[in-house]
Amino acid sequence: MQLKIENLSKTYSNGVKALNNVSLTINQGMFGLLGPNGAGKSSLMRTISTLQEADQGSIYLDELDVLKEKESVRRLLGYLPQDFGVYPKINAEEMLTHIASLKGINGSERKESVGALLQRVNLYKDRKKNLGTYSGGMKQRFGIAQALLGNPKLIIVDEPTAGLDPAERNRFYNLLSEIGDNTIVILSTHIVEDVRTLCTDFAIICQGELLRHDHPEEAVEELNGKIYVKSVDKSDIEQIRNQEQVISVQMKSGRLSVRIYNDSTPMQGFIPVAPILEDVYFHQISGKVDVVTI
Ligand code: ADP
Repeated sequence: MQLKIENLSKTYSNGVKALNNVSLTINQGMFGLLGPNGAGKSSLMRTISTLQEADQGSIYLDELDVLKEKESVRRLLGYLPQDFGVYPKINAEEMLTHIASLKGINGSERKESVGALLQRVNLYKDRKKNLGTYSGGMKQRFGIAQALLGNPKLIIVDEPTAGLDPAERNRFYNLLSEIGDNTIVILSTHIVEDVRTLCTDFAIICQGELLRHDHPEEAVEELNGKIYVKSVDKSDIEQIRNQEQVISVQMKSGRLSVRIYNDSTPMQGFIPVAPILEDVYFHQISGKVDVVTI
């Protein structure tokens, strides 16, 4: 199974060009979508999920014309939106049963899938509790259960770990990575290193444009020997910015840890470090947007 996006563009009625001629082919497995706020990630995900129209371009899931055959796509799709709201006064089992009916799953099959999914996301013992009493992590696990109803072949999750603590985040990712091999999972996140751990492929979009499509390990490899770091005082930062390509600046024990990109010899005092995917990300978007990390 393959998702093929070609020349996709979208301008909202307020004039914002959210997608600008995006072409991208996504294969089975976990695919990470990175980009700063306002890059167009949600617009892209909503368009693939048949929830909004594009102005131009095409999306095919194998032979299926996603922008035209919406009903068929919805049967194959599991979607966990960024602002997944729950009805607080209904319990997980009832809600999941209701969503299953909407997806056209009925009878004994419905009862079985609802039970199995509640087990899978580890909410079976809490299935009779109202969703309003669930923690953030439980709500997200419920969200993934509803997205998995009907064995979707295309799963889209938009910033699913926002608001989760690290343990909940790990549990959530374990769940996602257990999803079958013959499924496409598109994951948008702000946690760049999670993409390296989880995804076989990733893309960076910025200001509606696709800047990069690559494998995380290969992208990191490319920066080998080109990333340097130095701990400096705040007052030094201006001079460094004038001379070096600063990738990120982080506060560390009261001083600033500056990471730079340099493919020859950097200023004195900078030491080489192993690159990480975040370097790839910041290097790629620098110049496009102001990267203010401090
Ligand atoms: P991301 O998910 O990467 O943060 P979005 O796709 O939500 O980006 O937004 C891309 C751009 O489109 C932003 O400038 C945003 O303000 C704008 N935008 C998103 N949705 C709408 C909408 N319904 N109407 C008008 N502008 C929108």
